[in-house]
Amino acid sequence: MAKISINLATGSFQKEEIIVGIDLGTTNSLVAFINPDKNPQVINDSGKGVLVPSVVYFNNQNEAVVGNEAKEFLTTDPSNTIFSVKRLLGRSYKDVADHAATFSYKIIDDDTDALVKIQAGNRFYTPIELSAEILKELKARAEHALKTPVNRAVITVPAYFNDSQRQATRDAGKLAGLDVMRIVNEPTAASLAYGIGLDPSQQKTIAVYDLGGGTFDVSILQIQNGIFEVLATNGNTYLGGDDFDRAILEYWIAQNKLEVTALAQNNVLMQTLRLQAEAAKKALSSQNLYNEKVGEIWCTLDRQTFEQLIAAKVEETITACKNALKDADLSANDIDEVILVGGSTRTPYVKQAVEHFFGKKPQDNINPDEVVALGAAIQADVLAGNRSDILLLDVTPLSLGIETMGGLMDVIIARNSKVPTKAGRQYTTSVDGQVNMKISVYQGERDLVKENRKLAEFDLKGIPAMPAGLPKVDINFLLNADGILTVQAIELRSGVKQEIEITPSYGLSDDTVEKMLLDSIEHAQSDVQQRMLIEARSEGEQLQYTAERFIEKHAEHLTEAEIAETKTHIEALKTALGSQDKDTILKKADELNEFTRPFAERVMDAAISTAMKGKKIE
Ligand code: AMP
Repeated sequence: MAKISINLATGSFQKEEIIVGIDLGTTNSLVAFINPDKNPQVINDSGKGVLVPSVVYFNNQNEAVVGNEAKEFLTTDPSNTIFSVKRLLGRSYKDVADHAATFSYKIIDDDTDALVKIQAGNRFYTPIELSAEILKELKARAEHALKTPVNRAVITVPAYFNDSQRQATRDAGKLAGLDVMRIVNEPTAASLAYGIGLDPSQQKTIAVYDLGGGTFDVSILQIQNGIFEVLATNGNTYLGGDDFDRAILEYWIAQNKLEVTALAQNNVLMQTLRLQAEAAKKALSSQNLYNEKVGEIWCTLDRQTFEQLIAAKVEETITACKNALKDADLSANDIDEVILVGGSTRTPYVKQAVEHFFGKKPQDNINPDEVVALGAAIQADVLAGNRSDILLLDVTPLSLGIETMGGLMDVIIARNSKVPTKAGRQYTTSVDGQVNMKISVYQGERDLVKENRKLAEFDLKGIPAMPAGLPKVDINFLLNADGILTVQAIELRSGVKQEIEITPSYGLSDDTVEKMLLDSIEHAQSDVQQRMLIEARSEGEQLQYTAERFIEKHAEHLTEAEIAETKTHIEALKTALGSQDKDTILKKADELNEFTRPFAERVMDAAISTAMKGKKIE
């Protein structure tokens, strides 16, 4: 299947279009491309710098400001300045509740499994929209620097990202006006940047050690026949260079005998010392002593003391490496190459610890902040078919998925996935006592199934009657090398199972694929917006249903005024549900939720005390 490239500006097909590689990071993001000398190169647009801080600020007019400019608002307007959005991508409030306090902005707690939303000003944003703002900025910088439209990209994600986080990343790309050619694992991109895995005859086992500002992960990859398989990942999403800075800060506070409570109230001094700590840490990567003064405070640190301060944290990363090896059933000797990624691997003590553990010198020639984006650019170049030396494995030309609520397409195997491949996802019922589930299989890139190509439909029958949400239905797609798709549905609690075989390419000409791709790109942004509206609506409807049932069932625990006000909130939500405005729906849902939250707690307490009273002590 030929690669098709479309110029969004003209709507025409293009042969030689640049596909960029994007590292969408927790702290910083960057974009790279293959330069005319055929080397990967990071983009530095008009000297603005290579790294774009992954920070989005919303001003009074709800306009987004991204990058360094946004970073300045972290201290002056923290509730409208969104950082670390990658931690929220593809996650529900339940997933992030433990860390909710670390965010200075408002994350909507709707106590459901729905994906989180963030409030800034009077608007509600999904992490997908926020990530799209960062991607738009990267796209604009690339277009400005390269003086050509940039419509296609490869975007990297951590190896441990699940399906929903990957889908969210894809959607963010779409919303930013990018055709996301492939989502690539960060450690895979790092390997490609070092040229590892480009030769299909090469077989290697590698470890990628990635220590950034706020996160740490290690991945063990096996490369065979040009395919990168993630054998194991481990790490800590709250461990990184920021912890080193904090350790230095605490040391200086102790050394200078500073009054902690007074210091905590002096935000400006605290920030100054924190920046000074980071500067000390960076300096100690190439010198032995750091000596500065902030007012009357001595900021002195030697390398040996610094190493003692961070030893326990570094040891934690080594323990994670041990665990990853154990999970992969390997020992350090089995690792052929070790690659360093992330700014914090510049610390010599970290390098030594990694070298000591794996028993070999890690690869560190490429800038550790840039290595992932550079690798993504190489992957993009391979996909563009520009590298005749590299075998391009067979890929699926169009995405395959099933229909979910509201007629949405839920992609299970994404376009451009290498075949053979398999993927699956878990679903549940939406109605109490539902015993059948209709599974409709579609092909295409549009967000609404009605715009895609229907391949098959079957019923999973005989699900035991259970309350909505309890059955667990695994749907697995297996696409073999001959292009035959097997779809299997199995209800895990009862074991009922159904399977069909389809040939997705049957009756599909190259022209049809081209047309489907062109349509999807043309409608990408409106499709994602429509998807978000449908999702907001179904969340709102669910909440309305729950709230109505709640006041019916638990009227005795509520006052008349409370019931009346709940009804007013429900009415407001119902009106919003009839609108086309997702922000209004989410706002009204949030208000209803906030208002009724104490009632749920009250009913729970009452239920517990009744249960206790009922218990007899013999
Ligand atoms: P990243 O998240 O990969 O951009 O990594 C950022 C982290 O790398 C921050 O904690 C930086 O302070 C740290 N960093 C950057 N340069 C150096 C350096 N020369 N030595 C030690 N740490 C550094």
